[in-house]
Amino acid sequence: MDIHEYQAKELFRAAGVAVPPGEVATTAEQAEEIARRYGGSVVVKAQVHAGGRGKAGGVKLASSAEEAREHASKILGMTIKDLTVQKVLVTPIEDIASEAYASVLIDRETQRPMFMVSPEGGVDIEEVAENRPEAIRKLRIDPRYGLLPHQAYSLATFLYDDPAQVKQATKLMGQLYEAFTSNSCSLAEINPLIVTPEGDLKAIDAKVSIDESALFRLPEVAAYRDLDAEPAAETKAREAGLSFVKLEGDVGCCVNGAGLAMATMDLVKYYGGEPANFLDIGGSSNPDKVVAALEIITADPSVKSILFNIFGGITRCDDVANGIVEAARRIDIQPPIVIRLTGTNETEALEILKEAGFSAYTSMDEVVEKAVELAAQA
Ligand code: GDP
Ligand code: MN
Repeated sequence: MDIHEYQAKELFRAAGVAVPPGEVATTAEQAEEIARRYGGSVVVKAQVHAGGRGKAGGVKLASSAEEAREHASKILGMTIKDLTVQKVLVTPIEDIASEAYASVLIDRETQRPMFMVSPEGGVDIEEVAENRPEAIRKLRIDPRYGLLPHQAYSLATFLYDDPAQVKQATKLMGQLYEAFTSNSCSLAEINPLIVTPEGDLKAIDAKVSIDESALFRLPEVAAYRDLDAEPAAETKAREAGLSFVKLEGDVGCCVNGAGLAMATMDLVKYYGGEPANFLDIGGSSNPDKVVAALEIITADPSVKSILFNIFGGITRCDDVANGIVEAARRIDIQPPIVIRLTGTNETEALEILKEAGFSAYTSMDEVVEKAVELAAQA
């Protein structure tokens, strides 16, 4: 689960990280009022679950409360990476002597928390990783021991030469690791981590993602969920108990089982198509789930064909077939649907689908090729 910058900063503050103060506004007038209390020199920052807000015009410096209002009125309602800005953070401007990068994330390869730090902060870290990988230091942490003092020190010396800054950064690494572990984060990132002209380290941006599976034991963090800030499709999928990830292509995919869903997406690509989504309806053939899945897929205007790929084991193919027929009765589906069903009760299922006028297949290759072809024709 992604959270907003202002929420991430609350978690960082609680762990002792130096973070400038700030308040959230939902109207330009509120932003002006907050800016006035901070003396007028503020940064107005879009609160959306997306990086690169600065480049998109979602981070603006103001030198007076009136200017803060003007910035807020432009930023509120703005769209950044398909998300509408509904809140801004108003925070005093910090003077910047240098910008660094520091994060902790889960390294999938070693299945451990990993620090990533770079003295080249403020910019896209992906760019640094690509062009100047030697400017990034990675350090994996053994969760049994946590971040050891010499590790924190070595990260700090990679970022700074000045002993006073190394001392602060050593402490900060421990605080960042504490924020990461105590909130079950999958990512805790500070970019930029600044040094002020006075020599103080401060986190002026914060990006945090929380492991969804841990939310049940973190009620305060779970309460950070902002449904208005999440894509509607994701909220709907979660409520219906579906695993859904939106992708860039035009072949809508509806599959039972995560492994089969991955294999289906691979095959779509193999045949020259692009999947519009990952969607796992799980082991159930409950028609309500199939309806929810089709509602989510058809709400995406880029979907040009819909591909069902169902492997019946405990799930009975005839139940799924009835679910699809029922779903098509309940909602108006524009893109063509092709269906592959195989396994338990497939003969009955194919009969049900043919009767209802659907194209039904048993071969995965054939159906995927057909779905890709239909999307290309549309
Ligand atoms: P992002 O673009 O979403 O990563 O948003 P950031 O919070 O990182 O802001 C983008 C950039 O705006 C930063 O890298 C800074 O250069 C600038 N910026 C943000 N806050 C401040 C501030 O308090 N003072 C100054 N001088 N620049 C800031
Ligand atoms: Mn940033």
